[in-house]
Amino acid sequence: MNNSDVYNKSREELLSVGKKYNIAQDKLEEFLEPDRVVEVKVPVNLGTQVVTFKGYRSQHNKNLGPYKGGLRFHPRVNKDEVMALSLWMSLKTAVVGIPFGGGKGGIAVDPKVLSEKQLEELSREYVRKISEVIGYDKDVPAPDVNTNPKIIDWMTDEFIKISGMNGGKTPLNKLFATFTGKSKNGLEGRTEATGFGGVTVLKELAKKLNLEPKTQNVAVMGFGNVGFYFADLASKSGFNLVAVSDSKGGIIKKNGEKFIPLDIPLVYDCKQEKGSLAGCYCAGGVCDTRGGQMITNEELLELPVDILIPAALEDVINENNMQNIKAKIIIEMANGPVSPTAYHYLTEKGVIIVPDILANSGGVAGSYIEWEQNMEDKKYKKEDVLKRLEKMMQNAFENVWNESKKQKTDLKEASYLVALGKILSV
Ligand code: GLU
Repeated sequence: MNNSDVYNKSREELLSVGKKYNIAQDKLEEFLEPDRVVEVKVPVNLGTQVVTFKGYRSQHNKNLGPYKGGLRFHPRVNKDEVMALSLWMSLKTAVVGIPFGGGKGGIAVDPKVLSEKQLEELSREYVRKISEVIGYDKDVPAPDVNTNPKIIDWMTDEFIKISGMNGGKTPLNKLFATFTGKSKNGLEGRTEATGFGGVTVLKELAKKLNLEPKTQNVAVMGFGNVGFYFADLASKSGFNLVAVSDSKGGIIKKNGEKFIPLDIPLVYDCKQEKGSLAGCYCAGGVCDTRGGQMITNEELLELPVDILIPAALEDVINENNMQNIKAKIIIEMANGPVSPTAYHYLTEKGVIIVPDILANSGGVAGSYIEWEQNMEDKKYKKEDVLKRLEKMMQNAFENVWNESKKQKTDLKEASYLVALGKILSV
């Protein structure tokens, strides 16, 4: 898919759901359009020259509360992409039942070529440019693709400095509540929240379908924060994690035709050591090369596994490869990894696809708990956070599942109906 039509495709999809269920067209169209998209220049001194990157923040809808959503640093970031991602955030916050609207932003940059100092300067400059439009009660950014707690800490620090220079009267705890996904004054459990939420959803689905985890082979595409925690927690819950990949490719281990489950913590250590999964063949306590194979990301998607977890970027399952997908369950841990056409095609074939706005909503649900903790100037215990998060995810899943049964439709359409019911009725 051309990356410049994600927003329109998503808009069309929602409009056709609106038509099917007689949702007022004018109200829906008005919702779909972002409230505003802020575009900024982000100049950074790269030593020999100053390079200006393009930054964005799409504030989509605030019917249910302040705009909320991540910031990504990726060369593919553009206006259309942040618009689509911010629309999905509006739907996601509604599905998981938190008092936030939707937003998303980012910078078109490859952060991997920057030094740490340059990355810090980029992050701080971006905040200087958008400081007026964000705040604990306006718009609350968080991490997303290629951003992490360290980057969010620099941003929070810059925001606090700016507020001080402007003689702001906002108490410090509320300034901290302007960003989530922080390490300083952050939430214990936020880092694993997205993966934890996804595994909670998978376990609920397995119960509905009477599936025993130990009979299920799972492949995970993406081994960043979301993919790693998903793989780790799913394997601790008894699922067989038989393939994982990062941007450079993936690994499997086989004995003849039979998959051998990977030892996820060992794979993680190996990736830390080698910088990528390429070359890591780990199983049964040792990293070795016996029986291990390297595969491409394309091959991973087409493996004969039971459950497929796309946890990297959008549009990886599309018109070109949908015929080759063999999994019977797909959990969308990335945002928009299955294109609308592929979603429709695979659903018709009987594949159950848990949509992103439900599957990965544990991240923003964790962010809500972090925001509340900062607003109340408290420190929550990790154990309590995860218990609360589990309940939130179970409720969100149950609502969507029941809606899909009631309307005799798939889980994506059901999540849209749950979300739009809340957003348009306020
Ligand atoms: N970037 C994550 C997402 O796409 C988290 C957003 C947030 O916590 O605000 O859901």
